[in-house]
Order: sequence, then C-alpha cells, then structure tokens
Amino acid sequence: MQNLLELTLPELTSWLAELGHPRFRAVQLWQWIWQHMARSFDDMSSLSKALRQQLSELAVIRWPEVDRIQQSSDGTTKFLLRLEDGERIETVLIPSTNREGNVRWTQCLSTQVGCAMGCTFCSTGTMGFTRNMTMGEILGQILVARDHLHDTRPQWPVLRNLVFMGMGEPLLNYTNLERALLSLNENGGLNFSPRRITVSTCGIRKGLKELGESGLAFLAISLHAPTQELRARLMPGAAKWPLDDLLDTLNSYPLKTRERVTFEYLMLGGVNDGPEQARQLIKIVRAVRKSKINLIIYNETPGSPYREPSEDRVLAFEKILWDAGITAVIRKSKGRDIDAACGQLKVSAMQEEAGA
Ligand code: SAH
Ligand code: SF4
Repeated sequence: MQNLLELTLPELTSWLAELGHPRFRAVQLWQWIWQHMARSFDDMSSLSKALRQQLSELAVIRWPEVDRIQQSSDGTTKFLLRLEDGERIETVLIPSTNREGNVRWTQCLSTQVGCAMGCTFCSTGTMGFTRNMTMGEILGQILVARDHLHDTRPQWPVLRNLVFMGMGEPLLNYTNLERALLSLNENGGLNFSPRRITVSTCGIRKGLKELGESGLAFLAISLHAPTQELRARLMPGAAKWPLDDLLDTLNSYPLKTRERVTFEYLMLGGVNDGPEQARQLIKIVRAVRKSKINLIIYNETPGSPYREPSEDRVLAFEKILWDAGITAVIRKSKGRDIDAACGQLKVSAMQEEAGA
C-alpha cells in the first residue's frame, strides 16, 4: 500500500498518471490530503466513486499516531507521536500573541529519530541515532498538530511559523528535509512560504550549502560556544567542522532580503555564561556580517550535569553584547513545566515506562 503522505506533488502526479488519471486529479487529491486534511478517500467528494474505490485498494493516508499530549500552563502543547514502525518522536506547538492581540502558533518539528551529533546538553543527543524520518513523517507532524488545534480551539487557530528545532539534525537528513520544504511551498497544500520556516542546525558543511542554494527556509545556527575548544566539549559531533571554517561559510551564505543568520547560544550555568565568553562571542558575531543572537536559557533535565544560568549572569552577558552594538534577545524557552526542550518528553516517557 502506498502511503500518499510520502509522495511530493510531482510524484503523486506520475503515480496517478500510471493509473491513467490526468494531472488535475493529482492536484485535487493533493488538496484533499494537505489542505482539507482528509484521512479517508470516502470524504473526497470531488473525486469519482470509481477513483475513490481504486485509491482505497492501492493507497492509504497514514498519519503518525498520537501517543500522548501534554499541555503547559503557558499553552505550549507537546505531542509524543508514534511512527509506523513504533518509533516515537516529539513535536511542540508554541503560542504567541501578536500586536493585534491574536494568538499565532509556531510548531517545532523533528527530522530524525534520535540524533548522531551527541551534544552533551541535549536529551536527543544522549539517545543516539536511530533513523531518519521520511517526508510523510516530517509533514505528518503538522497534520496532527493542526487537527488538534482545530479540535480544541474555539476560534480558527493560525499555525503561522515552522521551526525545525525538534529532535534530530535536519541537515543530516537533507533529502527528506528538502522534499518536505518543497511540499510545504506547493500551492493548494499546507502553503508555508520559506519566510515562515526556519531550519536550525549545529552546522553540517554539505547540507548547509544545499539549503542555502535551495532558498527554502531561514537559517539558524546552534553555536552555543564562542571558541572551538569549548564547542568541542559541548558539541563533539558538530565541532568536527572547525568553527573558523563554519564562520567563513556563513559569510558567503546566500541570504534573502533583510535576512540575517541567527546564532542560537544556549546558556549553561557556569559553563559558557561568563563575561569572558561574552567578549569572545562578540568577535564571532562580528566575523559574520549579517547575523544576530538568540540567548536561550538552558532547561534543566534530570540526570544532566548542566544547570540553568543565574539571571544576573544572563543579564550581564546580554549587556556586554548590547554595549558592543550587537543584537541579542533572551529566549526563555516556553513549556518548561512539561519538559518542552528537544527530546525531553520522550526521555521522561521512557523513564516512566521503565518504572523510574
Ligand atoms: N539539531 C539541530 C536542531 C534541533 S536542536 C540543532 O542542534 O540546531 C534544537 C535546539 O534545542 C538547539 O539549539 C539545542 O541547543 C536546544 N536544546 C537542546 N536541549 C535543550 C535544553 N535542555 N534546554 C534548552 N534548549 C535545548
Ligand atoms: Fe542533535 Fe541538535 Fe541535540 Fe545536538 S542539539 S544532539 S545536533 S538535536
């Protein structure tokens, strides 16, 4: 059985063409799957009964299953989803209120089951790598989350932005990432333009080049340390690509109009949050002409050696950057009461199941 979530629009078109159907049928089917979020062929009223019958014999529309949902006091909603082979991944919906007072949602998406990069502060990193997620699994997260929003929110909820900051390293699964980004950009489907999508990476040479050439998303780089030495301690996998080389590549990265590279700097108490590191960070940011910094407060994980930084140190760190004329914004991650940082829900679910 062909899971139709796994086909891009061109692939769906040729799949239907082989069955003798014209292109406009593929467009209709695409709309049913991605725009109307139909899960059964019976609902597809604009298709003939014969075609619906044929589809139900040859294909399925298989969404990831919801294993559990947790909601934080700030509205952040975290889903643990079960994939076809039983593997589980996480996705998070994060609300924010815009200037007009309307709630807009951002979804954080996973791209791999686990991660091979082994960052020492990251729950996903400590799980190791299991496998890449397919295009249908990546986009299936959006279908599940939208469905949940429609069911639970009185007004039509707006899923505004997508960030690839969930489990896994997106650029190590570039083929499926690109297929997902292309599908998001298709008319008549989920309709997310590249300006509403951010891909976060710890920095992978080959994938970075490909993402830049594709122009399919904004770029965020997980920096987390201002020197090669400290970075190698915190992010042993990522640091195999020397920091100087990464910065050089970022300088020639093809940016969109008004785009700047976002550096993410996860602040770990007593590890990378001192004034010396802030001054070193200034040099790095200046080395990349168009860039800005998000300072992220570490969300403590049981069993992890790292601690949340003190507020004084965070503010002092930010001030050093501001005094140097560098744009830095502090981001206290939402959903802290539900383990909403990368990989944390899966870890606590596994611990509960193991009786811990
Ligand atoms: N692999 C990619 C994208 C997924 S990680 C990357 O590394 O960029 C997404 C972000 O979650 C990273 O910036 C990581 O630093 C952050 N993160 C991981 N564990 C965290 C924690 N306990 N608290 C806060 N942020 C965390
Ligand atoms: Fe992988 Fe990103 Fe976690 Fe590092 S921070 S282990 S790259 S998911």
